[in-house]
Amino acid sequence: MKKKDLSYSINWSKKSLNTRVIHVGGEPDQATGAIMPPIFQTSTYVQKSPGIHSGYEYTRTHNPTRTRLEECLASAENGKYATVTASGLSATMLIMHALPANSTILVGDDVYGGTYRIFNTIFNSLHKFIFVNTTDQKILKQELKKYQPALLWIETPTNPLLKITDLEFAITEAKKYNALVLVDNTFMSPYFQNPLKFGADIILHSMTKYINGHSDVVGGALIVNDQKIHKELFRLQNSIGPCASPFDSWLVLRGIKTLAVRMQRHQENAIKIANFLEKNKKVERVIYPGLESHPQHSVAKKQMSGFGGMITFFLRGGIKESRKFLESVQIFSLAESLGGVESLIEHPAIMTHASIPEKVRTKLGISNNLIRLSVGIEDCDDLISDLKNAFKNCQ
Ligand SMILES: *Cc1c(COP(=O)(O)O)cnc(C)c1O
Repeated sequence: MKKKDLSYSINWSKKSLNTRVIHVGGEPDQATGAIMPPIFQTSTYVQKSPGIHSGYEYTRTHNPTRTRLEECLASAENGKYATVTASGLSATMLIMHALPANSTILVGDDVYGGTYRIFNTIFNSLHKFIFVNTTDQKILKQELKKYQPALLWIETPTNPLLKITDLEFAITEAKKYNALVLVDNTFMSPYFQNPLKFGADIILHSMTKYINGHSDVVGGALIVNDQKIHKELFRLQNSIGPCASPFDSWLVLRGIKTLAVRMQRHQENAIKIANFLEKNKKVERVIYPGLESHPQHSVAKKQMSGFGGMITFFLRGGIKESRKFLESVQIFSLAESLGGVESLIEHPAIMTHASIPEKVRTKLGISNNLIRLSVGIEDCDDLISDLKNAFKNCQ
């Protein structure tokens, strides 16, 4: 968009993320001065003369509201370009089409269930996927050398086991073979982790989660520094069509303004709850990157500026006890997804990860007594008393 009178004359890249998520892409409306930008709810744009327009022709290609969000997201990840898509998975789809056919892709073995499904049931006819434990440096090094993949796909922390991959190590190794590196940064959000800093080429977000933060939008984003990659993603987005709607883009622009305060509170609550669970006799084990008991706690401290709001724990017992527990909570809502202001609880083996074959789930450690919490920003004492009641109920 052209710079006009009400444009800011501030160099935002020098400002903190807390400030950037509020102001980048959030300039007042040029025409009216409205501090909240309007929603350009339009599919097409009138031209003065054939081919003479203000940079916008058709909303699948471009939309001013989406452009604003793309500016904001690029800035949030300290990147140059962002592409906003209709969902996280459609962002994944664009990446799959951006690679030459028959590419070899090395993928973390504990990725989001939908990522696993799209690779194994949709794009397995186009590319070759090798699943590997990216948190094991020896194995990762070996497999990179063996397969010399076109792309290394890392999700860190993973879902639901919150395994952490050392980004500096993984990216350095991948670069020895000129592999592109994509990091799915959905769980940490740009507030706690910025993988471009470690040399990642592409950041993927499901905006559905922390970026929007209000459980009212499904959306995705890809952030890159390389103009060539960005142009290719733009071409694919326009040619295939999974663009986010103007209204959804606007909602995310609204949601992301509070990213910093939300993430702070998510983490504050999660630390208290993780400690509470770790002391509870009915809990076998708690996984939270902020706990010293987490196997990669030191890697987490090194590459993240915080530990996020996701907690996984193993309840003593099996499917029966887990079911009872999940039915007993009242403030935590039993639902898939994560990253919203409200606390959610779920059972990966039955819910989010049901599309992963049981044998694979067991091998990964997604057992029937594993429960995942997306800790919201409610009052923490209320959340803890809700969990206490549920524990009482499953006696
Ligand atoms: C939800 C999620 C996705 C997929 O995003 P959608 O917006 O649901 O399509 C990808 N990766 C992670 C880590 C997720 O949590």
